[in-house]
Amino acid sequence: MAVSSTPRPLAPYAQDPRHSRGRQRPEPAPTWRSEFQRDRDRIIHSSAFRRLEYKTQVFVNHEGDLFRTRLTHTLEVCQIARTIARALDLNEDLTEAITLAHDLGHTPFGHAGQEALNRSMKEYGGFEHNLQSLRVVDDLEQRYAEFDGLNLCFETREGILKHCSAANARELGDLGKRFLDRTQPGLEAQLANLADELAYNSHDVDDGLRAGLITVDQLEALGLMGRLFAQVRAAHPNLPHRRMIYETVRHMIGEQVADVIRTSAALLADAAPADSDAVRRQPQPLIRFSEAMQAEHVELKRFLFKRLYRHHRVYRMAEKAQRTVAALFRAFMDDIALMPPQQHEQARRLEQERGQAGRARGVADYIAGMTDRYAIDEHERLFNPRRLT
Ligand code: MG
Repeated sequence: MAVSSTPRPLAPYAQDPRHSRGRQRPEPAPTWRSEFQRDRDRIIHSSAFRRLEYKTQVFVNHEGDLFRTRLTHTLEVCQIARTIARALDLNEDLTEAITLAHDLGHTPFGHAGQEALNRSMKEYGGFEHNLQSLRVVDDLEQRYAEFDGLNLCFETREGILKHCSAANARELGDLGKRFLDRTQPGLEAQLANLADELAYNSHDVDDGLRAGLITVDQLEALGLMGRLFAQVRAAHPNLPHRRMIYETVRHMIGEQVADVIRTSAALLADAAPADSDAVRRQPQPLIRFSEAMQAEHVELKRFLFKRLYRHHRVYRMAEKAQRTVAALFRAFMDDIALMPPQQHEQARRLEQERGQAGRARGVADYIAGMTDRYAIDEHERLFNPRRLT
């Protein structure tokens, strides 16, 4: 399918900013930007966005300067999603805003940090990084005179909340409704979700090879990677090893992007939703991989889970990270005055409103906001008696 790379008018099923369900607190329309461009700008100027630079994706920040961080992961997701959005005539600004915000609620130390915090929060409503991303943009960023949070549009918030338990969905009103009704989010949200998976599968292959935790031989036994390595070797038989890997990862992203565009364009042509609300009523997402690519994608995901995320070097670091997060939680939960004054005050306020669960939420908010190095430092300051501050 030939597609132009210059922006064209939105498709009828794209989210038109003029038909947005709006912001929680109504604001005058922006002068120079669309509503979704304004959302994007607020996200980029948030503190949580800047902290992504020092948060783990898979490899802890201090393990090496070339590995992906939460920030570079976010930029890769954004770039992939924008390409697909433009090819399908979806709203690129909304896609950009959702993808830039999608990991704002992530804890330090990647999934290990999230698991540890979830375990610590078990009796207090748990911890989901998705929900935390929403909490960051709805409440925790405090930089505007007239409201807490960033006061983003419904559609951006809808896209940030990828998953949600039924219990949490019930508390989220309009935004949680789709998890109870089992309907779809808008196409831009569907796309952000898929681009996230596409991006991390691809960059984790690259990072895993760089770290020497997985090998080309292992990858060649998999459908997608086997095919791509063979193609690259045939086209460039004398390519140095490192460049062969880069070239293959490049094709890996390209093939998957092309597959999503082809498959989704066909699904959209077939379903022909009249507008973004018709998209939401569909029984299935319309932004998808083909079945064949989906199978290869899952095969690769399983491989990475077993060989990379559970590799003993990653596992040992993850264990350490979990102990750090769990210890911070216990210490702050026992005595919230150990937190800096602003967070202490916030936890005290939440405790007055909601008891122990509120107190725990205040502690979780503080820990979730930490970068890797800040968490390590904070742990050191709390537990090393030789450290004075
Ligand atoms: Mg992500």
